[in-house]
Amino acid sequence: MPANFCLMCGHALEIRDISGVERQACPACRFVFWGHYSIGVGALVLKDDSLLLVRRSEDPGKGFWTNPGGYCEQDEPLEETIMREVKEETGIIARVRRIVAIRDRPHSIHNLYVVFAMDYLDGDPVPDLLEVDRAGFFTREEMESLPVAGLTRWLVEVAFTGGGEGLVSDDSPFVSKAGNSLFRIPRTS
Ligand SMILES: [Zn+2]
Repeated sequence: MPANFCLMCGHALEIRDISGVERQACPACRFVFWGHYSIGVGALVLKDDSLLLVRRSEDPGKGFWTNPGGYCEQDEPLEETIMREVKEETGIIARVRRIVAIRDRPHSIHNLYVVFAMDYLDGDPVPDLLEVDRAGFFTREEMESLPVAGLTRWLVEVAFTGGGEGLVSDDSPFVSKAGNSLFRIPRTS
C-alpha cells in the first residue's frame, strides 16, 4: 500500500535509494515513507484470582469478551495509553507492573500489540457503553461459559500461568531517557 504524496508537505513523492533500499521519499522536505505501522496495547488486570474483561459492543469482535486495550496516539507513551484505555473502558484505576506478552502482525499495516500485567488500584468495573457494553472481573472457571476472543484466551493463559518478572520500566537508567520509556528485564546484580 504505497503513498503517492508527502504526508508532511503534500509534494509528489519520488523513489530514492536509502541505505540500499528503494523507498518513497519527498524531494521537497525530509519525509520518507517507511510504511504503515500501528501500536496497540492490552491490559491484564488481576484482582485476587480474577481477571478484568470487557465485552466488545462494536465490530471487530462484537459480543466477544476481551481484555481492555486500544491504540496508541502518535505522541503518547505506552504506559499512559494502557492506563487511559483501562479507565475509559471500565472505570478501573490500574498501574503498569510489567510487559508480559507481545503479538507482532506484519500485514498491510504492521501492528505491534504490547500486553501489560497491571496491578488493580481502585474502582468497580463500569462499561463505557461505547466501545464495551459489559465489564467485570472473572475467574478462569467463570470465563469458561463466556465467548472469549481467541487472542484473549491466549492472554488469559499468560495471565494465570506466567512466571518470571517480564520487562519492567527502568525509571532511573544510567543513560539519559531523553523522552523515551525504557523497559528491560530486571537487574539481578
Ligand atoms: Zn514533503
